[in-house]
Amino acid sequence: MPRQPFEIADRIHLLQPSGIRKFFELGQSMKNPIDLSIGQADFDVPDEIKQAATAAILSGRNRYTVTQGIEPLRAALKRRYALRFKGVEHDEVIVTSGVAGALMLSFLALLNPGDEVIIPDPYFVMYRHLASLVGARAVPVNTYPDFRFTAERVEAAITPRTRAMVVNSPSNPTGATLDEAQARDLARLADERGLVVISDEIYEDFIYEGRHVSVREFTSNCLVLSGASKSMGMPGWRMGWMLGPRDFIERCYIVQQFTFVCAPSPAQHAVLAGLNLDFSGHLADYRRKRELVYEGLRDRFALTQPRGAFYAFPALPEGVKLDAFIAACIERELLVVPGSACSSRDTHLRISYAAQDDKLARAVEILRELAVKLKR
Ligand code: PMP
Repeated sequence: MPRQPFEIADRIHLLQPSGIRKFFELGQSMKNPIDLSIGQADFDVPDEIKQAATAAILSGRNRYTVTQGIEPLRAALKRRYALRFKGVEHDEVIVTSGVAGALMLSFLALLNPGDEVIIPDPYFVMYRHLASLVGARAVPVNTYPDFRFTAERVEAAITPRTRAMVVNSPSNPTGATLDEAQARDLARLADERGLVVISDEIYEDFIYEGRHVSVREFTSNCLVLSGASKSMGMPGWRMGWMLGPRDFIERCYIVQQFTFVCAPSPAQHAVLAGLNLDFSGHLADYRRKRELVYEGLRDRFALTQPRGAFYAFPALPEGVKLDAFIAACIERELLVVPGSACSSRDTHLRISYAAQDDKLARAVEILRELAVKLKR
């Protein structure tokens, strides 16, 4: 009997394939593309981390770990956070399968069907879809044109169903960062309105102006999510973590027990070794890359200077259609992401500048040329 197509669960119909992965796959099929589509650092994992992982594998650390993550890693992370935040003795840490895993656990544990979670627009695309998966609704807050996620903008989006807001500083896809006043106001709003702040700080080590500011400095109604994918150049190892109030995080242990079980064991040992390393050398590199892209594009595109992460989010010149622009880029083997993949608007491009300088220089040339050519 011919097999009937499987009927897909309703919640899955709400998901669309990521507009970013599409470019990743396209890039794999091209001979020599300039791929500025995917968000991963261009440096490799340091040898010390590779050696720690190998040693863990060879010494038999290949079994399940405790769900919450190995004790020395959690202790090291807690020590780190204790230097930054007050009241951390009331907080706990869970080690997760990437920040993606931490996002999934927090959404599952916080949001009921019908609840709303406020997110910035433009956004990291996973926020929207995770909300759908748990039956909640992501409510995007327009942050154009300066990409500031302010308490004023968030407050206007609060309804009786709002449970949480996602703050992402430095931001994917805009490179915007929070300043102290902004973080303090968001914290106050969360406290006043009984909202939880889900603070995605995965790009915390990529800051080019000032210091990294977290909403957690101003409220404990906050979950801090971070990980090793970007900072240690190891997105394929799936390592992340989440800090939050002890009772909540302990509930997340249970959710993890029945979903991901634990983060990969050798990778946990490797990250423990990585926490002692100094990655600041990469920062100077990335600041230079940012300048290359920002200075290269700013007279042809409206572009807010990115202050962190490794993305630029320029607006297309007036009258230029996004589809046509992206098609012209692909023709020149340049892959950038249409802003519509991470926003309700189709007026911008996301450029990841985590790439070699010569490729960036060539990309800038192509983008400049197309900005003039397609305007005509
Ligand atoms: N948050 C943001 C803002 C991201 O850009 C990414 C990766 N692109 C993630 C979370 C997920 O990262 P990972 O699961 O690799 O830690």
